[in-house]
Amino acid sequence: MSDLARTRADFPILHQQVNGKPLVYLDNGATSQKPRRVIDALVHYYERDNSNVHRGLHALSMRATDAYEGARARIAKFIHAADPAEIIFTRGTTESINIVAHSWARAHLKAGDVILTTEMEHHSNLVPWQQVARAVGATVRYIPVLGADAEGGLDYAALDTLLTPEVKLLAFTHISNTLGTINDAARLCARARAIGATTVIDAAQSIGHARIDVQALGCDFLAFSGHKMCGPTGIGVLYGRRALLDQLAPDETGGGMVVSVTYEGATWKPSPERHEAGTPNIADAIALGAACDYLDEIGRDAIAAHDHHLAQIAMEKLSVVPGIRIIGPRGGQPRGGLVSFAFAEVHAHDVVTFADEDGLALRGGHHCNQPLMRKLGLTSTTRASFYLYNTAAEIDVLVASLRRIQKFFVG
Ligand code: PLP
Repeated sequence: MSDLARTRADFPILHQQVNGKPLVYLDNGATSQKPRRVIDALVHYYERDNSNVHRGLHALSMRATDAYEGARARIAKFIHAADPAEIIFTRGTTESINIVAHSWARAHLKAGDVILTTEMEHHSNLVPWQQVARAVGATVRYIPVLGADAEGGLDYAALDTLLTPEVKLLAFTHISNTLGTINDAARLCARARAIGATTVIDAAQSIGHARIDVQALGCDFLAFSGHKMCGPTGIGVLYGRRALLDQLAPDETGGGMVVSVTYEGATWKPSPERHEAGTPNIADAIALGAACDYLDEIGRDAIAAHDHHLAQIAMEKLSVVPGIRIIGPRGGQPRGGLVSFAFAEVHAHDVVTFADEDGLALRGGHHCNQPLMRKLGLTSTTRASFYLYNTAAEIDVLVASLRRIQKFFVG
């Protein structure tokens, strides 16, 4: 990041004190902060263009429709989708994955089929598959996480035995929200494609942190949330290949997504309208488009390098804090911009509460990864997650705070 001070100036929320100390926001894995550009896009929309989309013929409705559809095209470009109709606006990653589970999986899976996922999934990319498997009589199988403490990577060798002809769906996270592991998404999609399985990528942790090219990845579906990429809460995306989305039965039905309705039934429009029943989240979709502009102006390669750099510094500095165990890949293994750690004798909730006194925003808990936590022999970890506005000096604040906590609890 060439001009970190300028980037920080773009985020009004960062310039405040918390508990009498400058805010050090290291909870970006949970949600990112919003630049002025995104906040302005929301205000502009509500002050000038607010109207319902698609159905109006007056000036405001046409402006709102243009801005909403413009955001769809912008997001298609952001992930290199072939067609804006491949972008479905949702509430976020969770809803996007649930749409695939409800609409695609229930229609395509039958008893005896296998849904393959990994041991490192967020509950959002795990529970929906367990539910659909139960409903249709399919089985969920897991690609193991390798020697989690040392590596935290996926056991790619296990794919040879796991990718049987019964596997109809492979759903995996791009970057683990607890381990920081970056999975080889293109490789996983290629292996799944070779046996005719459909692929779903949970890009919640990668979307705002690296270049994403759905065509190069070769995925069928990709899900992400706007709030983790400098956009608003309440808006997210389900990307799907056009051919799949046009065939998919809608998960929700109602206004805006029908061609014709009689007292006997209805027919559906093609994608994207068929998957967006009712009035959509217009303002937040438009602001998500502004977030794409912002991130591309900074440069996603620069952001990825910055995140990686901070994670490396954090790993080095945390590794010498007494009593700490760092979780996830080490030794140069691919790793996103987050570091999870655990103290043998201090619970993560105590760590986060004490760190808050030092102005730090961290996250402690199971991070919606309960089965992974059990596998790691932990109940919780503390997570520091970095983004484009964080500095190396903030890692020093983190380390000083952790040393204070360790001393207070353990002596
Ligand atoms: N998947 C991963 C890897 C996540 O980290 C998260 C959120 O933390 C989600 C899915 C769910 O995202 P949302 O709560 O925005 O739907």
